Amino acid sequence: MAEELLNYVAGEWRRCRDATTFDNEDPAARGSVLNVVQASGPDELTEAIEAADLAFRTWRRVPLHERQACIGRFLDLVRASRDELATIVSRENGKTISEARAEIDSAIVEGTYHLHQVSAFVGHLGVDVGDGLTAWMQHHPIGVVGVISPWNFPVNVMCRKAIPALLTGNTVVFKPASFTPWCALEMAKLFVHSGLPPGVFNCVTGLGSRVGNALLDDPRVRAISFTGSTEVGKRIQARAANHLIRTQLELGGKNALIVLPDANLDDAATAAMTAGFACAGQWCTSTSRVLVHEQVADAFTARLAARCDAVRVGPPLEESTGMGPVAGPEQFASIQRAIEIGIAEGASLVTGGVCREPRATPGYYIRPTVFTGVRPEMFLFREEIFGPVLALTRVESLDQAIELANDSMYGLSSALFTRDLSAAQRYIDAIDAGLAHVNVHSGYKHPALPFGGWKQSGFGPPENSRTGLEFFVDRKAVYLKGA
Ligand code: NAP
Ligand code: MG
Repeated sequence: MAEELLNYVAGEWRRCRDATTFDNEDPAARGSVLNVVQASGPDELTEAIEAADLAFRTWRRVPLHERQACIGRFLDLVRASRDELATIVSRENGKTISEARAEIDSAIVEGTYHLHQVSAFVGHLGVDVGDGLTAWMQHHPIGVVGVISPWNFPVNVMCRKAIPALLTGNTVVFKPASFTPWCALEMAKLFVHSGLPPGVFNCVTGLGSRVGNALLDDPRVRAISFTGSTEVGKRIQARAANHLIRTQLELGGKNALIVLPDANLDDAATAAMTAGFACAGQWCTSTSRVLVHEQVADAFTARLAARCDAVRVGPPLEESTGMGPVAGPEQFASIQRAIEIGIAEGASLVTGGVCREPRATPGYYIRPTVFTGVRPEMFLFREEIFGPVLALTRVESLDQAIELANDSMYGLSSALFTRDLSAAQRYIDAIDAGLAHVNVHSGYKHPALPFGGWKQSGFGPPENSRTGLEFFVDRKAVYLKGA
């Protein structure tokens, strides 16, 4: 029988009050259950908020160096559990084991960045106002923070939000995506072992549509850091307005890669493969549109198709696998539908589609898929597919490419391949996106720089960099005069 995993609330492992659970399916073997998790309702969320609110009263007064020591121990435990955690991520998300290890490594790099950055971040900023007054600005933690994460980077996204929240003295109620509850609860164990006091970090599993409002309607929750779809982000934003809950929303994208005639085509194809198909195209910063200059379109497409056909799609835990399954049945169905719409609208399928190989344990497998002849009004050009599907459109100039790249409600990431410095400058100035890459794939990022989208790809201060901490504090202007 599959193991039952419990919520972690107020320093205890707890079942839901009504003892209902849901199955965590293995995406590489349809219908098979990895474990069962709590199908929490609003009551469980409210208990977690209560615990976090109570814990905040003491955690906010814990000296920074002690909070840093706890998070430092947590990161050491993540490092020591790297293989175990990566295996869990790979099994429940479907990304390959090497992609899962890279995710853990990225969580450690970003967490370590915040661990050190926070030393310089806190402290008081004084100003000489004269009149015998001493004046300064000081930061305060805001209180209970709700963290809602997607399934595509289940470890990294939670860490990128929860670590800066905890370091700055807040307490956390974490609601992981329902596709990836196992690694969330595994990280809750690591927080326990790191010595974090009870109630400071709580993890409650359950359907977002069922428990989301319990977080958003409780005035004790002061901020929500959410990563997920634009659709759900808008719903959260509207609901958060009732209590003026602060929001940090990292949302969808439709990221373009522009390839100019002077580009190194091998490098451009490598970037399209990496950002198009890593994690089966389920990065928010995945490249999903390629705007390729007509002079090199055929040569580029041929290189790309040959590389796609060489990718070994299969079980994610096998080291030789190049691409695993997509995360679950809904993703599989929606990607399959996008491919069908692409064909029906007249785009040309160059390679890929749903995997047809017979398998003993069939999973949600889709091959690296490339379409050419994609026009701006087509579904493939406009909609975030969130799967291994690249839509190629021919362009005549850089200006046209930038105009098309910006012709989207999204503005998360982008990339340009060229050897021409002035073309690069024009693109950097004109692209409407939170991330602009030149001769680097669209998914590349560093924790010292802000990570967030423009337009409907995001709202609120971006994650990482200084803003990644600023989101979690209130500011107080103090004016002091001796009596
Ligand atoms: P999603 O459906 O929006 O879900 C994200 C999270 O929100 C999940 O934990 C989900 O819970 C929860 N949720 C669903 N309905 C909710 C509600 N009414 N109130 C509160 N929470 C609710 O997105 P996804 O399918 O998991 O992730 C893919 C999307 O995330 C893509 O659009 C991708 O671009 C985006 N993403 C963006 C970034 C970025 O940094 N910009 C990074 C990664 C992913 P359940 O799982 O229980 O439904
Ligand atoms: Mg699963």
